Amino acid sequence: MARDPKYDILLEPVRVGPKASRNRFWQTSHCTGYGAERPGTQARFRGMKAEGGWGVVCTEFCSIHPESDEYPWHSARLWDEGDIINLRYMCDEVHRHKSLAGVQLWYNGMHSPCLESREVPRGPSGLPSNVFPERGVYDAAADEDDIRAIINMYALAARRAEQAGFDIVEVTGSDSTLPMQFLERRYNRRTDRYGGSLENRARFYIEVMAALKRAVGDRLAVTTRFETDTINGEFRVQHHDEGLQFVELMHQEGVCDLWAVKIGDYEEWGEDAGSSRFRKTNWMRPFVAHVKGIVGAAVPVVSNGRFTSPDDMVAALRSGQCDIIGAARPSIADPFLPTKIAEGRLEDIRECIGCNLCVSRMQQQALLSCTQNPTSGEEYRRGWHPERFDRTASPCSVLVVGAGPAGMECAMVLGKRGYTVHLRDCANELGGHWRDVARYPRCSEYARVISYREAQLSKLRNVEVHLGITPMTADDVLQYGADKVVIATGAHWSTVGLGPEVHRAIEGVDASHANVLTPEQIMRGKEVPGERVVVLDGDGFFTGIAMAELLADRGKRVQLVTNMNDVAEFSKYTMELANNKRMLHEKGIRYLTNHWARAFEPGRLALFYLYRDSPGLYELEPGRWGRRSSDALVHLDCDVLVLVTSRVPNGELYAQLRSRRAEWAKHAVRAVYRIGDCHAPRQILNAIFDGHRLAREFDSPDPEHPLPFIRERQVWGHETFPKLGDARPRVEVT
Ligand code: ADP
Ligand code: SF4
Repeated sequence: MARDPKYDILLEPVRVGPKASRNRFWQTSHCTGYGAERPGTQARFRGMKAEGGWGVVCTEFCSIHPESDEYPWHSARLWDEGDIINLRYMCDEVHRHKSLAGVQLWYNGMHSPCLESREVPRGPSGLPSNVFPERGVYDAAADEDDIRAIINMYALAARRAEQAGFDIVEVTGSDSTLPMQFLERRYNRRTDRYGGSLENRARFYIEVMAALKRAVGDRLAVTTRFETDTINGEFRVQHHDEGLQFVELMHQEGVCDLWAVKIGDYEEWGEDAGSSRFRKTNWMRPFVAHVKGIVGAAVPVVSNGRFTSPDDMVAALRSGQCDIIGAARPSIADPFLPTKIAEGRLEDIRECIGCNLCVSRMQQQALLSCTQNPTSGEEYRRGWHPERFDRTASPCSVLVVGAGPAGMECAMVLGKRGYTVHLRDCANELGGHWRDVARYPRCSEYARVISYREAQLSKLRNVEVHLGITPMTADDVLQYGADKVVIATGAHWSTVGLGPEVHRAIEGVDASHANVLTPEQIMRGKEVPGERVVVLDGDGFFTGIAMAELLADRGKRVQLVTNMNDVAEFSKYTMELANNKRMLHEKGIRYLTNHWARAFEPGRLALFYLYRDSPGLYELEPGRWGRRSSDALVHLDCDVLVLVTSRVPNGELYAQLRSRRAEWAKHAVRAVYRIGDCHAPRQILNAIFDGHRLAREFDSPDPEHPLPFIRERQVWGHETFPKLGDARPRVEVT
């Protein structure tokens, strides 16, 4: 379909200092965990976005010097020649597709643990970090010589960036980095010309920008990413106060070619990477919309807000909020989003669902991957392309049993590869357990997992979808007539309270009773009797907290009990923990951590504290050593127990088929595989990856087991940078 002309504005070129972006799509800096240490993964990941049409593609935060080191989180780095070589590959890939490459220069002052470099970061006032309060991270208060040295680090890093081939150097003033530490009253206790008044606190930031202008500004665009509001009150930056005043101050100096604006701070950067459970598209608008009015027509403004709809993008541009659409997650979920808009293929857009599992990977010090786009991060190491699928050289018919996320993904990729696929499910709709999940409070955007795949499947003439069938037995499968079979029958919540704490059923617990419920039962309408509800959460992600909110909204008195150290503990990785707690507080839902259930009888739930036994080890009786055990229990009033304890694979069909392997040949069945939660119940991105991986490798010699991927690491005996004995690069104070 031809593009609607109303979207043409998105494809107009924009000038950024001495450079020009070919369109208004800007992949803002975002973490990946690839850094400068995985040059192939970094380059192909970013290059894919350029290929998909993003006019500007930036790195993640890029350390300018070993004093700013956040190991074991991997940032990009521009410390030395080795980093230049590695990041040059990314720039080449981005340039190959006529896009601009940007690098976000990062010095983190008081929030630099320096666990790899063991250096001492410099900062405004010599204070403990509030981001790592338990780690003993302090900066050393910088004197004016130190300040000049740091500014020179930025300038030297910008020159290295130029050598690597970057077009844009972006100073991050966001996420509580050093320029913000100088700017914020909370951190800046100085009494010299870098402290006190706003002008003084802004001086460092402006001097950094001016130094970059002098160093590279006639050839590279010098830009900044700035948080107009840290969203935590008067001693920090508020947009209506110092946020916009700072923009005015810096703009008057003429040192910034472009502003990329956002909100939040480092402690809670989930307000920037807002999850869809708490923030809807363009939620930052009220905080950032005035920047454009200050900087005028000549200086472009980039605004983010999990934009996936071209209508929302155009509305943001037309309203005068910004000139360029910034995106991190929408560009991860669909690197080809700009191309699809340009070609009028809106139904093919793979919209980000705002689950923040991408963020969670980085927060776990791992490598970025994505729920919606299982090829992200796999472009180099597995050679996967999000839009291109090798046609199979050996087509055959495939029966996929189960149309949850794993089955849908597998059937879709098999279909795109040219197999004849029947995707069958006893439910009347596609989506498996994810249909329930998308109806949990706050989770409506999660439905995009289903709708995207449903739309793609409907376009594939070689894929048939059969819904509402009688559940398939092993006989049905064997007699179906397919050459190969994929079992994707999913998992269910334990009905007896099996959980990660004691790995056994809880006394008195059985979801066939009226006052014990699983999430599936609640979503399918089983009555929740009584008033006092306890949600027992051994899962730690969003289901427990969603059940608690859902029942509190129905007027129940809800308590959440978890064995973990924190409520919805995994949400610390998705940057939702603080807002989860605010929600619980607002709705009067109390919670108890580090406890697990011992027994349940209607009206009363017995819990035990996980650490009730003695810390010391004693001789309990002659020859028998151990802890002095306690049998102390805590009792809660409880009419209804909701079990979010663990999931159990629906593995019987696969097990039966495996045990009847001898009969496969008789029925001309050549292979039976299993994918997703029926193999092992894991997070959604793993179930989808599983289905995708099998389909990609369906004609490999042993599809059941993944092909090896490229591991990027130093191989002993080959050259490395720097080498022992190399001189330390000097940071001259100029
Ligand atoms: P996953 O996350 O691994 O994709 P889900 O639990 O979301 O798993 O989906 C599994 C799907 O499989 C459900 O829609 C369920 O109805 C379907 N299913 C399970 N067993 C059978 C069966 N024997 N025959 C047909 N469909 C089945
Ligand atoms: Fe969006 Fe989730 Fe993918 Fe992140 S992991 S880009 S939030 S769909």
